[in-house]
Amino acid sequence: TWSAVPAGPPDPILGVTEAFKADKDPRKINLGVGAYRDGNGKPYVLESVQKAEKLLTISKPDKEYLPITGLADFTKRAALLAYGADSVPLNQGAVAVTQSISGTGALRIGGAFLARHYPHSKVIYLPVPSWGNHTPIFRDSGLEVRGYRYFDKKTVGLDFEGLKADLRAAPEQSIVLLHACAHNPTGVDPTQVQWAEISDIVKERKLFPFFDMAYQGFASGDTARDAFAVRHFVAEGHQIALAQSFAKNMGLYGERVGAFSLVTADAAEKARVDSQMKIVIRPMYSNPPIHGALVANAILGDTALYDQWESEVKGMADRIISMREKLYGMLTHDLKTPGEWGHIKSQIGMFSFTGLNPAQTKVLAEKAHVYMTADGRISMAGLNANNIEYFATSVDAAVKG
Ligand code: PMP
Repeated sequence: TWSAVPAGPPDPILGVTEAFKADKDPRKINLGVGAYRDGNGKPYVLESVQKAEKLLTISKPDKEYLPITGLADFTKRAALLAYGADSVPLNQGAVAVTQSISGTGALRIGGAFLARHYPHSKVIYLPVPSWGNHTPIFRDSGLEVRGYRYFDKKTVGLDFEGLKADLRAAPEQSIVLLHACAHNPTGVDPTQVQWAEISDIVKERKLFPFFDMAYQGFASGDTARDAFAVRHFVAEGHQIALAQSFAKNMGLYGERVGAFSLVTADAAEKARVDSQMKIVIRPMYSNPPIHGALVANAILGDTALYDQWESEVKGMADRIISMREKLYGMLTHDLKTPGEWGHIKSQIGMFSFTGLNPAQTKVLAEKAHVYMTADGRISMAGLNANNIEYFATSVDAAVKG
């Protein structure tokens, strides 16, 4: 029956981890996967999460099905975290929100909802480059995927002129995907002034802004600051779509906790949109998993746990920033590695786009047991005091050839 099914290519990101696992060298480093590691290179379960789970073992909630759109207290609090207490549409009851299977599920619900109900276009513009899963998610949702310029290889920074030109040239009312903060894979974000300009262009061209916020708190250590773009767009009157993930900022990766929301015109429109969200979700997976949502809800709903969580997010962000500074110092001052490395310090969030080319990343894997995606993206969280020097000298050797 399946003799005509061709073998598919391995996932470009998860494939890196497979190669890493097969490597027996004790010096090996995995900088491929986007999951936080503590100062000892170990996965990190936040203390606020552990406390929330302890509370749940005491209160012993049942395991009944959640409603189709998930745990209502959680989605309310997730929306509050993203949109802020001053959000007009949120306070007017005009934001339709559903729980989702983490950020990926939120993007997929959004894609499917837009493909079915957005009346003006079936075209979505993604930044080039973007997270590798964006294209298949939106293509499989039934949208046509196109790109807008984002990253400038020469400056290893934002191609703001290219971005503006491409958004201005996009057909009116096209959908445009924006990374709210900590752009993956480049680590390059627009400044607040640039965001304001992007908002103006989106308005001029009547584009539909779809924000992917997978790293709220992870970029700057401040959840409100990282929500700047989302909140600015909403304050400017844009009716946005928003995908939220709690994988990174709460370390809930495998629990699959997220939310998808749409800003609507008013409470009546919200109710209609809500009803159609349910119709999109019900045949996909019926209703979302409960445990992670209970954990996130316990943290978001309790002042002491919330404060502890915010300081833990900041702790993760700060550790990553300190690794950026160390790596920059080693490459530029200690090793005098040829090239300009300022971007290592200026890039934001979990990842750095090093500028290493595919040949160099291959040498790093084969000779130094250092694994990263072929585009030269490294997860800064994979670096720590024990391995950063080995990493820097390996990069230096690969660049000097
Ligand atoms: N969007 C972006 C930009 C991401 O980097 C990720 C995680 N790698 C996601 C969405 C979704 O991740 P998850 O489904 O684990 O929340």
